[in-house]
Amino acid sequence: MPDPLAWIDEAADAWARRGLGRGLVALGGATPGRVSRDGRVLLNFASNDYLGLASDPRVVEAACSAARKHGWGSGASPLVSGWREPHEELAAALADFERVESVALFPTGFAANLGAIVALVGPGDAVYLDRLNHACLIDGARLSGARLRVYPHNDSNRLEAILTRDRGRFRRSLIATDGVFSMDGDVAPLADLADLASRFGAMLLVDEAHGTGVHGPDGRGAAEACGVAGRVDVKVGTLSKALGSVGGFVAGSRRLIGWLVNHARPMIYSTAPPPSAAAAASMSLAILRAEPWRRARLWELAGTLRDALPGLGLPAPGPGGPIVPVVLGGPDAAVGRSARLLDRGCLVPAIRPPTVPEGTARLRISLTAAHDRADLDRLIAALGEG
Ligand SMILES: *Cc1c(COP(=O)(O)O)cnc(C)c1O
Repeated sequence: MPDPLAWIDEAADAWARRGLGRGLVALGGATPGRVSRDGRVLLNFASNDYLGLASDPRVVEAACSAARKHGWGSGASPLVSGWREPHEELAAALADFERVESVALFPTGFAANLGAIVALVGPGDAVYLDRLNHACLIDGARLSGARLRVYPHNDSNRLEAILTRDRGRFRRSLIATDGVFSMDGDVAPLADLADLASRFGAMLLVDEAHGTGVHGPDGRGAAEACGVAGRVDVKVGTLSKALGSVGGFVAGSRRLIGWLVNHARPMIYSTAPPPSAAAAASMSLAILRAEPWRRARLWELAGTLRDALPGLGLPAPGPGGPIVPVVLGGPDAAVGRSARLLDRGCLVPAIRPPTVPEGTARLRISLTAAHDRADLDRLIAALGEG
């Protein structure tokens, strides 16, 4: 009998020949800003734990004490019996932080985007997407059955032209964008997008996965930084980056959240996250609000690193926060450089297609508030050695 999965061998070989093969590496350690690999401690410039909260003792204790009080698993989807007191408390705290009427929680940020988009548009509608949007926005748009319109990265003039041409053709329209782009660290032109959404009667969805806790005067994200937080109809966030936990959320009006609770399938048909994950995120949110120094340190480190790169003969990234891309071109250049940094004790991922466009393989350096100036100096020295 032929093995029905045998086709994978050839496909996987072709993938590997293009320099795109990847595998999982198990890491250890619970020290913020560091990980261990085979017993060796590395500086971790590969995480989205921007505020250094994922292993903060207060966050860990909040998770443990919630597990003792509520058990570990939630046991059911939210509408059945999985919605527990820590979920309700987190949703209320997030609504207060985001200055919205209501918040819905999802198992992940990926599920939040997927669920929200599919619940808001369908056949006969259109979704307008930035070319560099995160995979979950693209997959959500595809799954919805709506017509996809992709505009060049951050090009609101092109978007305007497409919206003008499309006027009257669709039942509903949704503009969906990353607030902060995950592989480039730049911010979407949200003021322009909010204007276009109003002019053309479109809904505006902003994915703040990398914005929450990092961007904006109070850490509310890219929309706050652009002065349009109150004009985003559907604000999507994750608990798994600056909030150091796991889960996703959508923040918005009571009307929106009520609709999602009834129609967002990744929430309705998936078990609610452990109450402990919600309790940990609530603790992180309280720390985020009480300790603005974390955000300030992060931006200071990011500025120092950006200033240092041209002197090392490396391409200067544009302005931005803790995501510092060093674009090197082909996958081999990025993988080689990443391996040499690893030898010098710095974990910096090589990001290759299809995560980024062809020809833009890069190092993606990601800083956290758990790093200090000495850590950064070690990274800069290691980068300087080539
Ligand atoms: C990480 C990420 C997500 C997914 O969030 P998870 O909680 O990790 O599933 C969504 N959007 C963007 C832009 C991201 O970078």
